[in-house]
Amino acid sequence: MRTAVVSEFAYGKAMCMSQPERFEVLVLGSGTGGKLVAWHMAQSGRRTAVVERRWIGGSCVNVACMPSKNEISSAKVAHLAGHAAQYGTVTNSIAVDMATVRRRKREMVERQIARHLQNYKASGAELIMGSGHFTAPKTLEVTLNDGGTRVLVADKVFLNVGTHAAIPNVPGLDAARPLTHVDALELDYLPSHLVVIGGGYVGLEMAQAYRRFGSDVTIIEPGHRLMGREDIDVSQEMQRILSEEGIQALLEAELLQVSGQSGERVGLVVRTASGEQNIDGSDILVAAGRVPNTTGIGLEEAGVRLDNRGYVRVNGRLETSAPDVWAIGECAGSPQFTHISEDDFRIIRDNLAGRNRNTRDRLVAYCMFTDPSLAHVGLSEGEAERQGIDVRVASLPMNSVLGAQATDQRQGFMKALIGKNDDRILGFTMIGAEAGEVMAAVHTAMLAGLSYSMLANAAFAHPTMAEGLSLLFSNVPPRSVQRTTTKVA
Ligand SMILES: Cc1cc2nc3c(=O)[nH]c(=O)nc-3n(C[C@H](O)[C@H](O)[C@H](O)COP(=O)(O)OP(=O)(O)OC[C@H]3O[C@@H](n4cnc5c(N)ncnc54)[C@H](O)[C@@H]3O)c2cc1C
Repeated sequence: MRTAVVSEFAYGKAMCMSQPERFEVLVLGSGTGGKLVAWHMAQSGRRTAVVERRWIGGSCVNVACMPSKNEISSAKVAHLAGHAAQYGTVTNSIAVDMATVRRRKREMVERQIARHLQNYKASGAELIMGSGHFTAPKTLEVTLNDGGTRVLVADKVFLNVGTHAAIPNVPGLDAARPLTHVDALELDYLPSHLVVIGGGYVGLEMAQAYRRFGSDVTIIEPGHRLMGREDIDVSQEMQRILSEEGIQALLEAELLQVSGQSGERVGLVVRTASGEQNIDGSDILVAAGRVPNTTGIGLEEAGVRLDNRGYVRVNGRLETSAPDVWAIGECAGSPQFTHISEDDFRIIRDNLAGRNRNTRDRLVAYCMFTDPSLAHVGLSEGEAERQGIDVRVASLPMNSVLGAQATDQRQGFMKALIGKNDDRILGFTMIGAEAGEVMAAVHTAMLAGLSYSMLANAAFAHPTMAEGLSLLFSNVPPRSVQRTTTKVA
């Protein structure tokens, strides 16, 4: 169905390639915020086109959040099956079939794409499959995937071109044809030894999933801890959990050289504090940061300026340096999450309707979908310190939460930051089962401006993980003290 619809678009329009076609709204890249802009504008009666070179619905749907969470859930089943005896269920030996893992993921992606195509049809936004580059302000030339070109001119232009995986400049790495997340989510075999370059959230999610499928996994991280942006206690707890599952993390490890081919055999030379080490692996996954898709698309011709890292320079209203051109999501340097790209859409939509919303005013939340997961909203201790904000800190081991005891999901902790001289909740972090769902309660309380004592005194249902919040917030130190940790109950 996808190919048929796309071909129709391409065929009908390729005929009039030299004649510029006029639209009221043009979106380059069909990521999360971009497609929402397009559907909204088209539904409001504006003639709208979206240009997408490959992924209908953007990376979240095709190669990032959704497929990775799909495969992570397959890996969790493998893990539970492997530990079933602990819960009293006796299994014979278990085996993982990566072809079925991939098929389940592909079927989900296909369902998502079909929904997107329905939305394009229902909204009236025209989806054009091809690569776009600007030739003049608000003028886009599209090289159609099915052949031919179209030239599109619009009153308002929205850039939502996203990012791609960075491949570090290390001798032999590129030639080894390493996997990125895109390729790793398409594997139908199990790597015998996966070497993951990068200890950020993409690397850790994939490392744990492959470990649970049965691979040996080594993480190479140049920083002195995993997830370098998190507080030290958070990094250390996550490293402890991953190491208990048999994942080896080499920290302060500089990758010097790579030989061989990923998918066959690879050799890596790494410099660590204890000297040079050789690692023999079967596959390499690179998860070492992102590069914005902003080069070679004529942004200079369009009058759109970039910052020194190549991201589109925007103000708090997501307006670029070119009049009537906005940027959305990762290419605009927004925090790299789907819900933030969606929020970028809401900010632009509301401002076009006369409001005055700014990206600076939003509360950013996120999850890392390891098991247990990590959830965070608002300030971390490190950010509070850097910003000179005095805080009180309360923390609670998950082992103290009765729901965690009952289900035997006792790893991790919760941590809350409260104003030193007022009772506002400034930040919340949790490593633990259902961390994202528990965080949503705190996120809501923060949006509503509730004092922490409201949560301390809330009768959360028993025995949920959220019940731990009343213990955590009961544990906030008095204003003269800065930190309290509840010991295991
Ligand atoms: C492995 C992985 C897991 C992730 N998991 C999560 C998660 O669990 N939760 C979460 O919130 N975030 C997650 N993210 C981040 C999330 O995927 C992105 O932040 C989100 O998809 C928003 O992206 P975007 O809207 O900026 O652009 P994208 O969705 O990346 O869309 C950009 C689109 O532009 C197209 N494009 C680029 N250049 C051109 C061109 N010249 N012409 C035509 N089309 C073009 C691309 O093909 C692409 O479809 C994950 C990322 C990765 C890599």
